[in-house]
Amino acid sequence: MMPLDSVTRMLRCVRASRALQSYLDGEADDLTAAQVTAHLEECRRCALEAGTYRAIKRVLSRTAGASDQLAVRRLRAFGRTLAEPDSPGA
Ligand SMILES: [Zn+2]
Repeated sequence: MMPLDSVTRMLRCVRASRALQSYLDGEADDLTAAQVTAHLEECRRCALEAGTYRAIKRVLSRTAGASDQLAVRRLRAFGRTLAEPDSPGA
């Protein structure tokens, strides 16, 4: 059984990562943007994920295949392995 504190933190991360996409696309409302910004400052893991998304978006904006959804999914999965500190082989 996880401590309640960890569960609360995890839920905050889930909410933040859901909002992250629209936040990085500049589509989040002010309240959401402020919440995501605050969370990224206190959560290294989500900050790392945000950095990965930003890098992916930079690459895609320079690439002709920017609409290649499979490539985007692969890059996101790769980003998640980077953001996962417990991943095997680390
Ligand atoms: Zn987080």
